[in-house]
Amino acid sequence: PAPESNAVHGGRRRHVLLFPLPYQGHINPMFRLAGLLHARGFAITVFHTHFNAPDPARHPKYRFVPVPDGTSGPAPVAIEDVVAHILALTAGCEAAFRERLAAVLEEYSSDTVACLVADAHLLPMVEAAKSLGVPTLALRTGSAACCACFIAYPMLFDKGYLPVKESQRDMPVSELPPYRVRDLVVLGDDERGAVRELIARAVTAVKVSSGVILNTFDALERRELQGLRRDLAVPVFDVGPLHKFSPAGDSSLLRQDRSCLEWLDARPPASVLYVSFGSIACMSPRDLEEAAWGIAASGVPFVWVVRPGMVRGSARQELLPEGFEAATRGRGMVVAWAPQEEVLGHAAVGGFWTHNGWNSTTESVCEGVPMLCRPCFGDQMGNARYVEHVWNVGFEVGGELERGSVEAAIRRLMIDKDGAEMRARAVELKKAAEECSRTGGSSCLAIDKLITHMMSLKN
Ligand code: UDP
Repeated sequence: PAPESNAVHGGRRRHVLLFPLPYQGHINPMFRLAGLLHARGFAITVFHTHFNAPDPARHPKYRFVPVPDGTSGPAPVAIEDVVAHILALTAGCEAAFRERLAAVLEEYSSDTVACLVADAHLLPMVEAAKSLGVPTLALRTGSAACCACFIAYPMLFDKGYLPVKESQRDMPVSELPPYRVRDLVVLGDDERGAVRELIARAVTAVKVSSGVILNTFDALERRELQGLRRDLAVPVFDVGPLHKFSPAGDSSLLRQDRSCLEWLDARPPASVLYVSFGSIACMSPRDLEEAAWGIAASGVPFVWVVRPGMVRGSARQELLPEGFEAATRGRGMVVAWAPQEEVLGHAAVGGFWTHNGWNSTTESVCEGVPMLCRPCFGDQMGNARYVEHVWNVGFEVGGELERGSVEAAIRRLMIDKDGAEMRARAVELKKAAEECSRTGGSSCLAIDKLITHMMSLKN
């Protein structure tokens, strides 16, 4: 379709308003969606919290509207803190958002605003927009399976799967195959019901909106998408993998160290293990040490993202055990933050040791890179379950980390026949992802439908 004509209505350009949840794994897909919509002719206005605010200079074509959120202090590190933080953030910026939205609507004149696309965790913003007559679409940045798990949350409690009982961790959840109890979205002990509240709000945000946008694609989650379409009354747009549709835009909160790409250039194909646990997951000092010595003993070249704050209470320089650098000199590179999509797309990378955040999982899938899974919290266990038992493109390193088992797992993924077979399947999955993204492919059609839908929404 002709790009500029998509979003012009009665000679006037249509605006899309966006509000991401201010965490890296939520910011990235929202900005990719912004890039896609902008390329199709929409003017983009991004509302954002002060916490983890984007840098407007990196997106000169968008308008940014800061919304005071009433929070202060450093980024939360423990998942229990994240849940409380999200609830505090949303409560903190609700009134200010309503005010700023009203001002923006007046300025744009409301008939040119197509809709607000809000992260599904921002129910108060969805409600504020609706009350001001702005249609909303909810962006879910996790998998379709995770969305189904959210919807099923009350049932999981009713049927006794939740709260998790130690003796039932391996029990299959027959209503949500292939999940076992241990794979469900469980975030800490949830004493005060904060997690249930957060999940219930996300489901409500989806149900009261005019549709849900998912960063997934048909070849990856056909059955799960069918299930959602059956269970939800609103349209479901499976427009992923978003990072393959949008011009590369830099929405990274930390500076990406690009020197690892040059380092990779000198390495043979599929020889390097990329290790990263995303933007929030933390390791204990003990796990870090066992991981380090396992990586060292494997003899496999590596690029390892050791993020500041990854081990609670330590500054980066002190994180790795003494002697690790000498033991791996010339064979590995440690960076504070990597240009992950490019690293995964580099021919030298042959495996990814990941925490299975949904972005990391799909980025790996799209580059045909098999995974070593070390899920920590939230939807990551479920994502790892799919990697190992549905797509067969990796396996989990579970339990307490121990250098010997880490070494064995790395060698299995990078050197053994088993790993080669997973790599071959990952390449097939990559091809399937490319099919979906091609003209006429499922994701392309979903994007066209989404844009037509946006243009049809009535204030
Ligand atoms: N990422 C990055 N550099 C890194 C590690 C991660 O740019 O060194 C990006 C990665 O490409 C992904 C996002 O950060 O898009 C992390 O999202 P994910 O859902 O995988 O995990 P989260 O950080 O939300 O736990």
